[in-house]
Amino acid sequence: MTYSVLIVDDDTAIKESVKKYLKIQNYEVKTALNAYEALEILNSFKADVVLTDIMMQGMDGLELTRKIKELYNIDVMVMTGYSAKYSYEKAVQAGASDFIFKPFRFEELNLRIHRVLREASFKKERADLLKRLRKLAITDALTGLYNSRHFFSQIKIEIDRYKRYSRALSLLILDIDFFKVYNDTWGHLDGDKVLMGLGKTIKPCMRSMDTAYRYGGEEFVILLPETGLQKACVVGARIKDNIAAQMFEPEPGIKTSITVSLGATELVEGENSKSFIRRADKALYKSKDTGRNKLTYLVSEP
Ligand code: GH3
Ligand code: MG
Ligand code: MG
Repeated sequence: MTYSVLIVDDDTAIKESVKKYLKIQNYEVKTALNAYEALEILNSFKADVVLTDIMMQGMDGLELTRKIKELYNIDVMVMTGYSAKYSYEKAVQAGASDFIFKPFRFEELNLRIHRVLREASFKKERADLLKRLRKLAITDALTGLYNSRHFFSQIKIEIDRYKRYSRALSLLILDIDFFKVYNDTWGHLDGDKVLMGLGKTIKPCMRSMDTAYRYGGEEFVILLPETGLQKACVVGARIKDNIAAQMFEPEPGIKTSITVSLGATELVEGENSKSFIRRADKALYKSKDTGRNKLTYLVSEP
């Protein structure tokens, strides 16, 4: 892999000799005579490391370091003469990843750049891993939807938002009809395929701010922020119809489908998550009691 370095120094002799050496070491190199030119170059040049002199006319190397750290995720190494008034601490405080005294041996510079690049790559790996773990912690492995743990944290956040901005908030609960029969007929693994299929069907029925969760074994919930009951019912009906239209093939040549029952409700002022969820649940059970494959909504009784 070729790494790229931007050298910033008003001393042409140093700038050019470092450039020549780093090019031989297989770096892609660009140079700037001052901080302003460096910032201009960084607009279009994605450097892995910026190597900057500290003492420069106009904007000095520390100010340039601060600006770069503010604007980009690029490592900065500063170089300075022994007599300079600038200290290592100041460079680090400005955000520099390393500090090297002039005159330096090229081999030392190369090693230091390598160390900075290695640390940057570790940092990125760690950040990527953390991101993956965070996602895993809130995702249901079977359906790819969010899990119930995330639902309980999000519903609290949405209720808080409702209180602060008085925006509507609706909730849909969905349960597969006679899923036990499906499992008993086709086996648990084919039942799992139905759950996976539901994950895929529910997603495109929602708007971008809606979120769907696997609430329990074969139960799903959908949180619809900034949505009144009427619109929530439209989304719920769309989900119901799309699920009913989806065909499964538990055995070659055998096509079958499932239906779901839904409950819908809208949050009212002063309500907590418990009573909000309970009302949606009640609506769901009304759908079950009155024939299944339907959506029932309930409004809070005053
Ligand atoms: P109803 O219409 O009243 O909801 O009937 P039902 O059969 O769906 O309801 P019941 O609560 O009696 O059964 C739920 C079934 O869901 C039983 C269980 O085996 C199945 N189930 C729950 N979690 C999973 C799962 O992760 N995978 C599979 N394949 N089945 C599951
Ligand atoms: Mg159930
Ligand atoms: Mg069920």
